[in-house]
Amino acid sequence: MSTAKELIEAFAKRQHEWHYPCPRCGRDVMDEEPARNAMSRRVNVQVCDDCGALEAFEDMPGGFQAPLEVWAIMKYPPRWGMLLQLAFVGRDSWSRPVYECGGRLYVDVDPRADRYPAICTKQDNDFDGEPCDPIPAGAEVEFIPHRDTW
Ligand SMILES: [Zn+2]
Repeated sequence: MSTAKELIEAFAKRQHEWHYPCPRCGRDVMDEEPARNAMSRRVNVQVCDDCGALEAFEDMPGGFQAPLEVWAIMKYPPRWGMLLQLAFVGRDSWSRPVYECGGRLYVDVDPRADRYPAICTKQDNDFDGEPCDPIPAGAEVEFIPHRDTW
C-alpha cells in the first residue's frame, strides 16, 4: 500500500500527460500551461493557484497544515489516472467483501470467483451501507492483499 506522498509523487510524473483536475482540491481549474500553476509546498506536484495560496497561508505562524491524506486525489485516485488500491477490511452483513482506499469504503457486489469484480462505493461510507456509485469502467484496481471471493 503506497503512502499519500508516494501516490501523489507518482501522479506528478504524469501530471502533464492529460488535463487533470487539481490533485489537492479536485476542482477542474488547472491552467493548460503548466508553468502558470502553483507548485505545492508539500509534495513536488503542481496544484491550482487557490491551493498554492492556501498552503502559503497554512505555513504562516499558527497555521495548520492539512495532511496529504485529505487531498482530493486520495479520495478517488482513478480520476487522476491512478490505480485504485483496495485494501480488504472485512465482510458486511450481506457477506460481501468491503475494501477501503483513502478513507473511502467500497464493496464488491459480485464477489463470485469466476466473475469480474463489480466495485461500488458504500452509501454514506457506512460499512453496512447499501452499494452506491459503481466505479467507472476501465478504472484500474488492485486488491490488497488479494481479492476476497465467494
Ligand atoms: Zn486546488
